[in-house]
Order: sequence, then structure tokens, then C-alpha cells
Amino acid sequence: MAGFGVLITFVFFIYIVSRGRAQLVGLNISLRSIVKASYARHCRNTNVVCKLIKTMNTFVKLPTGDVEIEHIREMVSEIKGQNFEFKTWHPRPGLRDKKSNFVTHLYVGQAFDKEYFTLDNNGWTDDHCKICFKTLGSDPNQYTDTDGYFNGADWVCKTCYTELVLTPDLEQKIESYGHYDQ
Ligand SMILES: [Zn+2]
Repeated sequence: MAGFGVLITFVFFIYIVSRGRAQLVGLNISLRSIVKASYARHCRNTNVVCKLIKTMNTFVKLPTGDVEIEHIREMVSEIKGQNFEFKTWHPRPGLRDKKSNFVTHLYVGQAFDKEYFTLDNNGWTDDHCKICFKTLGSDPNQYTDTDGYFNGADWVCKTCYTELVLTPDLEQKIESYGHYDQ
């Protein structure tokens, strides 16, 4: 009976996924046939799980940009447990690749090969908000904040911190912005 229960659940799942075609699939058809019948004609990928995962990407229209909902939930939960303080953004030391002349790594005291890198005390010239990826740097403009919340390692922009981290009800806040699936 347990197996039958799983089959019922799976058939219902297939029905939900394929409800656009609104055709309930009979129980006497093998699962393989159900998947093929539901997808072969209008979906190149007949893998049900892949199809479901693709339809599950929800983007929230934050004031600073559209961000995937699970990323927001995960980051807010992580940030809430840490000690972030409001600060003016400041450059940090970086490791400059001698060959390309680009700063490729933030320097936090790690060992590095002096043959390939030089230490530039103000070489790390921008950061990105952990939630919405907005740039934080020294030059104020439409796309760059010059202050935000810092925990000694990561930055969160003012908007995300006050709107999402400090809100007593994240889900309600997310709902208020509106979202879309992609
Ligand atoms: Zn942000």
C-alpha cells in the first residue's frame, strides 16, 4: 500500500506540473509513459526534476534590484546572527597580481607568493552587498553606496539592512515588494 501511496503522490505531482495542459493522467499508465506523454511535445528536457527546479526560481523586486528569494532568506538568517555596524566604506588591503596588475584577492593576513603578488594596502577598492550585490565603494553614484553595515569581513547595503535584516517579519516584507518566477 505504501508503494501505491507514493504512486498516487507522484501522479498528482505530474498533474500539478503539467496542469497547463489540464489532463489528469490515468493510474494504469507506467510512470515512464506519464513523463513522456506530459513533456515530449513541448519540453526538450523530459527530466521532471530539472523542469520543477527551473520553475522554482522566484525573484523578489528589491529596491536595489531583483534577487532570488532563497538567497535573500539564507543571507538574512546568517546576517541576523552576526554583529554588523554602520560604517563609512573604506578600502582594504589587496593582493595585486604582478602579471595582470589587477588586485585579485582581498588580503586578510593569508600567506602569499611574493614572486606572483604584491601587497597593496588600499588595493581592495569595492565590495558588494551580501544580499543584493549592490556596489559599496568610495565614489558615490547611482550604483554605489559609500556607507553600509560591516561585520569586519562582509558588507550589507543600508537598504537591505534596514528593510530586510531589521524587519520583524521578513516574509511579509518580501511579499510587499512583489515577485516573479523565472
Ligand atoms: Zn543590498
